[in-house]
Amino acid sequence: MAATGDPTSAPPQPTIVDGEFVPTHDVPFSEALDAMIAEVRAGNAPNLGRFCGYCYTPLDQGLDSCPTCTTTVDAVPARDKISRALAHVYTAKRKREGRYVHSAAWAGILFGAAVSVGLIIVLPDWTKVFAVIFLIVGSYYIASYLGNVAIQDYAYRRGLQQFSVAWQEFLELRARGAAEDD
Ligand SMILES: [Zn+2]
Repeated sequence: MAATGDPTSAPPQPTIVDGEFVPTHDVPFSEALDAMIAEVRAGNAPNLGRFCGYCYTPLDQGLDSCPTCTTTVDAVPARDKISRALAHVYTAKRKREGRYVHSAAWAGILFGAAVSVGLIIVLPDWTKVFAVIFLIVGSYYIASYLGNVAIQDYAYRRGLQQFSVAWQEFLELRARGAAEDD
């Protein structure tokens, strides 16, 4: 199997239909593998199973074609453990997405605080109490909106684009025979 990664060309763009990512052979991100790597890292599951020989998507017994990249076990034999190098790619993606959400929530809190300071300055007398109420309630809602709603879609798309780049690097590593642990 030849690696399709060509360092001189732009990495393949993730396919997104109606806001939902559709896994392809070029960008074979697997939700099931993502969940499994998180479980393995947390120590809740062993790094053992039956995985697609190309993209490591977990394959249920009897499944001979990968639901993520459509590679068949006849074309590339199934593997019994997840590549450590690929696990790093998935873990890095999770961490980055977490950082986006975290940063957005902090930006919301800072923005809310700035608005509160403005209100304290412009509101007369006792109505300054509304600035304090805004600081407590408003900041919370702005932070959760930015952290949970506004940034999710951005983080989702950025995460997949970065996965695509990292997947190309993984393919190059594997083509050199440097991606397997044993
Ligand atoms: Zn696959």
